[in-house]
Amino acid sequence: MATIELVNVAHAYVPNDYAVRDINLKWEEGVSSALLGPSGCGKTTLLKIISGLLQPTEGDILLNGKRVNELSPKERNIAQVFQFPVVYETLNVFNNLAFPLRNRGVPEQQVKVRVSQIAEILELTDILKKNSASLSAAEKQLISLGRGVIREDMAAILLDEPLTVIDPYQKLHIRRKLKQIQRELGLTMIYVTHDQHEALTFADQVTVMNTGEALQTGSPRDLHIHPEAPFVGYFIGSPGMNLFDANRNGDTIQAGDVSIAIPDGANADMSADYKVGIRPEFIEIHQSEQAGAIVCDVNAVHLTGNARVLDLEGANLNFKARVEDTSPIRAGERVWATFPKDVTIIYANDRAIKSSNKEAIA
Ligand code: ATP
Repeated sequence: MATIELVNVAHAYVPNDYAVRDINLKWEEGVSSALLGPSGCGKTTLLKIISGLLQPTEGDILLNGKRVNELSPKERNIAQVFQFPVVYETLNVFNNLAFPLRNRGVPEQQVKVRVSQIAEILELTDILKKNSASLSAAEKQLISLGRGVIREDMAAILLDEPLTVIDPYQKLHIRRKLKQIQRELGLTMIYVTHDQHEALTFADQVTVMNTGEALQTGSPRDLHIHPEAPFVGYFIGSPGMNLFDANRNGDTIQAGDVSIAIPDGANADMSADYKVGIRPEFIEIHQSEQAGAIVCDVNAVHLTGNARVLDLEGANLNFKARVEDTSPIRAGERVWATFPKDVTIIYANDRAIKSSNKEAIA
């Protein structure tokens, strides 16, 4: 397995119209990673650049620190698993899995051992003799995955929305198998998806992309607690982060009637475009008056299964707060909300200026 690095990578399919730009990313060996972002943000373009199917307009691709821009996909030893399973329907499951090994002239005894090992992890042992044409989409996708990981000399495995055609019940099983095989074999895996749940449950390191840029790379927890860009806050979470347009007023940032002190030492530009963000689950809700809290009208209460989401209006702001499913709060009531300082983020020109300390701001 290999470490993969993209240095100053950009690509324009049409001159001067960049599908991805300013990409500087590193995936360490043996780490499960995801590229997460909406349709058209450039995820597939990046995967193709890594695998060698696409030459970037600018920048370098490094495998284990060595520039590989000129190497073909075959020479890079990178496997890809696509949305639609790729299996040879005329071959049985064993022969499908064995194909990449036999293609490289691996001795038959070793082929047997490796196919058994991979089939065992993916729970395909019982169907090794079955003809591939008769299998379900989920079984076929597991075979595609098995073929991707069967060679021990692969540098990395790239997965492009691999669960798209799998029914919801089977998705869970395949995701579990993916995670298991990644861990047991120590694979460098990059999983591309627009689905936050898939990314956050599969990967230890997630990169959030939008409009061709990599906005933030971090653990699922980092992305949740401290989104570096408003888009990351909004795109991750259910519902996503509340974002308020704001203005600078001396040493404070004003969102509605709420004032937030600019953290000491923060490099806040007078003319920046400011926003304030706070996640619905971090807002503290009280049913009785609290000193300094925002008085809010509860406009609606949404049931989400394991929590309730309140639509609130107060301090000239409209926002959502998440409370326990057992909460007695009803629409039409009045509540008091506080925004804890450590999870209230000020953005200047779409970058977090600094997360502040622990006192409540409102
Ligand atoms: P999706 O999830 O829909 O596959 P994506 O995040 O993978 O989207 P890409 O497929 O990488 O995004 O596309 C990024 C941008 O590049 C889009 O604006 C897309 O229209 C454009 N694009 C992709 N392939 C080509 C191509 N062959 N020629 C021209 N433009 C392209």
